[in-house]
Amino acid sequence: MMKGWYKVMRENERNHQIHEAEDEKFLPLYSAMSGVGQELLSDIYCYTNQIVNVVFVGDPETTSDWIMIDTGMPGSYQRLRQVAIDRFGENNPPQAIILTHGHFDHVGAVVDLVKEWGVSVYAHEAELPYLTGRESYPDPDGTVEGGLVAKMSPIFPNEPINLGTHIKPLPRDGRIPHMSEWRWVHTPGHAPGHISLFRESDRTLIAGDVFVNVKQESLYKVLTQKREINGPPRYLTTDWVAAKRSVEKVAALKPSVAVAGHGHPVMGEELADGLEKLVNEFDERAIPDYGKYLN
Ligand SMILES: [Zn+2]
Ligand SMILES: [Zn+2]
Repeated sequence: MMKGWYKVMRENERNHQIHEAEDEKFLPLYSAMSGVGQELLSDIYCYTNQIVNVVFVGDPETTSDWIMIDTGMPGSYQRLRQVAIDRFGENNPPQAIILTHGHFDHVGAVVDLVKEWGVSVYAHEAELPYLTGRESYPDPDGTVEGGLVAKMSPIFPNEPINLGTHIKPLPRDGRIPHMSEWRWVHTPGHAPGHISLFRESDRTLIAGDVFVNVKQESLYKVLTQKREINGPPRYLTTDWVAAKRSVEKVAALKPSVAVAGHGHPVMGEELADGLEKLVNEFDERAIPDYGKYLN
């Protein structure tokens, strides 16, 4: 099952150049991993778009069916579309798109992808107001303890997108449409309807931003992608009590492989130790010393 682990594939250089300018128009934030795809398992392909990970689930060797988890930064539509074509072929849209939550760096391409593919998008019902134009997320906290990315966060968009009739709530019983082996787990705190996806058979976790494997507030660490299992990005996390419980919840699943929304995928002992440490030291390491969402 671990075949293909860390097989790093650099994206076709030509596509890279075409779309570079387009992405930069939005936020000139690039990590060392931007534009790199990794096949973690034969059916889990993790692609880093600027600073955020998009997961393509489906084994192109054995099936034409696939699912997209999250949709990158604003301006990433052409890029992600090309990654999908490179992996799953022309004219082969996914069965569905699943969103771990609705923050701007996870829904960047979703409106354009849905226009092209006509597929349904699923998210937790508590995220629906932010995905149907009804409510904005609270403002990112630029005053929160942390580095330059935190200070830049007030310029991040927090207006809702509107997916209209394409967005549907996930079934309440934990099932995920078109992903029969998987279950969703409610992991609020970073966003009210935040979810993580878990596959029991090989203990694969698609975590979203419940924890990240980089210190997301620090520009240096984001750009270099220094590995470090940490709590959710501080500038957008509004409920730290729930955020802590959510980390405990995913740690209790004892995942063997995890892809988080930001940073490198992590597995085995590094993952187990990192999660245990984060649970034990959550108050000191994850929760900021100051910031407007602390009480
Ligand atoms: Zn987020
Ligand atoms: Zn994020």
